[in-house]
Amino acid sequence: MGDCKFCGKGAGLFSHAHKECEEKHIQGITILEGALRSFFKNSTPPQELQKVVLLARQSYFASEDDIADSTSKCIDEWANVIHWPFHTQHLQKVKDLLSCITISYSKINKSGALDRLCQKMLRGFMAEYFTGQKQLQRSLQISEQVMRTMPLTRQQQQDAYYEMLGQAGKNYLKNGLMSPSEQQKVDEYVSTLGLSLINLPPSLKGSHIEELGQSSILSDLQAGRPPRYNIQAPIILTRGETALWCYNNVTMYQEKVRKEFVGSHSGFSFRVMKGVTYRTGGFKGHPVETSYMENMGLGSLYVTNKNIIFMGQSRSIKVPYTKIIGINPYSDGMEVQRDGNNVKRLVFQGFDCSFILNVINLI
Ligand SMILES: [Zn+2]
Repeated sequence: MGDCKFCGKGAGLFSHAHKECEEKHIQGITILEGALRSFFKNSTPPQELQKVVLLARQSYFASEDDIADSTSKCIDEWANVIHWPFHTQHLQKVKDLLSCITISYSKINKSGALDRLCQKMLRGFMAEYFTGQKQLQRSLQISEQVMRTMPLTRQQQQDAYYEMLGQAGKNYLKNGLMSPSEQQKVDEYVSTLGLSLINLPPSLKGSHIEELGQSSILSDLQAGRPPRYNIQAPIILTRGETALWCYNNVTMYQEKVRKEFVGSHSGFSFRVMKGVTYRTGGFKGHPVETSYMENMGLGSLYVTNKNIIFMGQSRSIKVPYTKIIGINPYSDGMEVQRDGNNVKRLVFQGFDCSFILNVINLI
């Protein structure tokens, strides 16, 4: 005999639940989620929600996990429909909810629903800073206040702050470079929150935040100021040289010329068969040059205010801007033509070259 997992009474030989109990359980979850949704829409007061939670537990076989799952699901739904600016009522809603549900915070947050909600609110407060509606200190104060109810790790906070910075970047760079007031906002944000525009975690490579960093550097170069940001690079810099940017995982190709002696035996192949003789008398050998690009391996490409420096595992090369006579940009790299006799073309592949083109234009 199996016992019913809902009511605990005998449920028959091969059964773990009565059909009626199963249905009642499903019905209870539906009632609970209905009450949660209506609570978020301000149609059900907290006391009412609390009663429904109790009822679901006592009469509809809803376990703690069931209630936590439904709550977390409804928090996600709510988080998806609310938009900044966020107000005290939003935070109060969360406080009321947590006091009604009387299940541990970590259980409700098992899938990260409360973390996501909190991060969304943080981004909203920062959006108010970037749009000029709040001072940064005020946005931070409110964030701290919200995090007293919904605590986040340092990493989760940074993720939210970086995401907002990326969005601000996207807006600020729509029309080219940032305006001085936008630049000031970005600088204050980055320094106050302890973020970086150029030494970014790998997940943010290629994001709008990188463009903000590049844009800041370019506006400094344009104004003839030393760049406000520079990178730590394991390269030896000359006097007055600053490392501006680093691209990782760049492949270098170098033009190679292959000389072949066409007309020789190695150039043409003859099949020597029985009864057939061959003569070489009709051919006169001559050298033929073919050029091709040889893969020189992966490395890091550094952009300084004076040179492009490629540091590869096997080969490294430094190209001063003064030696560059042309650049062919590609969607994922560039070809560099250098001045001088017998210099080979170089191709760097695996990055967006627009920043380098701008640097060369400004220097
Ligand atoms: Zn039962």
